[in-house]
Amino acid sequence: MAKEIDVVIKEEFIRVYKEGYPLIAQESILSWDKVKEEGTVLNLVDESGKFILKAYHGMQNKGYGWVLSSKKDEKINAAFFTKKIKSALEYRKEFFENENTTAFRVLNGEGDGLGGLTIDYFDGYYLLTWYSLGIYEFKSDILEALQASTEHKGIYQKKRFDSKGKYLNEKDDFICGEQAPSPLLVKENGTNFAVYLDDGAMVGVFLDQRDVRKTIRDKYAKGKSVLNTFSYTGAFSIFAALGGSTKTTSVDLAKRSLPKTTEQFEVNEIDVDKQDIIVDDVFNYFKYAVKKNLLFDIVVLDPPSFARSKKRTFTASKDYVNLLKEAIQITNRGGIIVASTNSANFSMMTFSDFISRAFKELNGKYKIKERFSLPKDFRVLDKFQEGNYLKVVFIEKLK
Ligand code: SAH
Repeated sequence: MAKEIDVVIKEEFIRVYKEGYPLIAQESILSWDKVKEEGTVLNLVDESGKFILKAYHGMQNKGYGWVLSSKKDEKINAAFFTKKIKSALEYRKEFFENENTTAFRVLNGEGDGLGGLTIDYFDGYYLLTWYSLGIYEFKSDILEALQASTEHKGIYQKKRFDSKGKYLNEKDDFICGEQAPSPLLVKENGTNFAVYLDDGAMVGVFLDQRDVRKTIRDKYAKGKSVLNTFSYTGAFSIFAALGGSTKTTSVDLAKRSLPKTTEQFEVNEIDVDKQDIIVDDVFNYFKYAVKKNLLFDIVVLDPPSFARSKKRTFTASKDYVNLLKEAIQITNRGGIIVASTNSANFSMMTFSDFISRAFKELNGKYKIKERFSLPKDFRVLDKFQEGNYLKVVFIEKLK
């Protein structure tokens, strides 16, 4: 049973929490002295001791914990987590009923009332991702709840926190049920993906780009040449090729991107020999493309929010304008730049401003065709728009 203590919340923060703000900020609590251990249940009270909300303590770079309930006598146990998981599953009912898509998110942290945890579904297998030691302390109750709420083939996990050696000898990703095949083939809008649930930090596909991939395949790719930068396992290239692009070029610095991208083409029966898969720094590739006078009809930009390579560091909030300028120079007139970022540090407004600056500095002209943020299964709270980190803009280069 988790330890439960009262902590006093500062007067000026009470209103935002009552209105539904889910993140426990360090500065909102009068004193953290009493709170020693992650996973402690916090009864947030006002200065007169009156109950306001129930939360838990877990350290993430975002904050010190998450709100769990507005009920004073709520017990944070398997029954509580079952309630949360069941309503999260209900919200994704249409996804479970759609045979063309067998990989999606079933619980999106605070968007589903459980900050610090996500659960993804991969064709009968469930993957839990823990973002703090605090939420991980509830593992046995959460597992019991997940097992009680789902028919599952197997359950896996990823730990995205530093456990400081505490769980060192625990066998990592596979938890229970049957082991998934390696690779496990899942579908997204009818397209295949090979995913690996037990092979490092990432499984091979970022589910939050589903609607963007479909849009590229169904509305933009036909007859076009496509450059996919920061391509990882080539997901955008696969969708472009299936949409009828004349050729895709995928560029990623990581050596593993070559076999991984090849595999994704193969599981979709696309002739890999007609595609280019290049292991290189994107910024080198831009130089090469300019030198060779290469121009593309579609350029996809999907960098990580922060990356360090041998030669440089890339920080989306500082360097995106330059990245766009590089892309603009190798995009055909009338072509499309798909500019994407998962950086939570800036808003869609700021991102739009980056786009405007990049074109202005090159004396160019553009038109915004469409915008995307997180898809429905990545549920976000109205009161916590910071949770909607994804920003994707389809830009037509006019000049
Ligand atoms: N667009 C991908 C996801 C990108 S993940 C998708 O849709 O699946 C970020 C990728 O950027 C990683 O694979 C990483 O290896 C790559 N990367 C980071 N810095 C890079 C650089 N300077 N040049 C090329 N690739 C880079």
